[in-house]
Amino acid sequence: MGTKAIYPGTFDPITKGHIDLAERAGAQFEEVVVAIAASPSKQPMFSLEERLDMASIALQHIGNVTITGFQGLLIDCVRKADAQVVLRGLRAVSDFEYEFQLAAMNRRLDPTIETMFLTPSEKYTFLSASMVKEIATHGGDVSQFLHPEINERLMNRLSV
Ligand code: ADP
Repeated sequence: MGTKAIYPGTFDPITKGHIDLAERAGAQFEEVVVAIAASPSKQPMFSLEERLDMASIALQHIGNVTITGFQGLLIDCVRKADAQVVLRGLRAVSDFEYEFQLAAMNRRLDPTIETMFLTPSEKYTFLSASMVKEIATHGGDVSQFLHPEINERLMNRLSV
């Protein structure tokens, strides 16, 4: 049986960096589950339902990628999905410290689950959903960083 990976995050909204990582993961694992955290403490711009919907649009071209939402502990979501791997993206050294801590903590909570990292295409190493929102809020054009449909939804959200 092949390996099933969970790719967790807030995806508020899903960017081309996330898509790039999901495509790479899809090529390496038998199955990839993009797990979108409710993350109420981060006060997301889009509701969990909206983020799930946007991810399914942006990732529909990848055959072995499915999408789910979760609340609470990541490790519980991994167990429930019967996955073996937590997949995270590493963009720059600045991601490392937090990711290292998270991986170590998750290993403490469940030593049978491995965390693995992928790096995106270099053109996305500077890209984060939070920066996209920041730029868009100030009227900047972020269309090159987003799937066209996601860009439209972001523009609609900011124009209300
Ligand atoms: P962010 O707001 O930083 O985009 P998320 O919580 O949605 O955050 O990120 C989920 C996962 O996707 C994390 O592992 C993060 O490192 C990764 N990720 C986010 N943006 C990119 C990118 N541009 N390239 C590679 N991985 C990314």
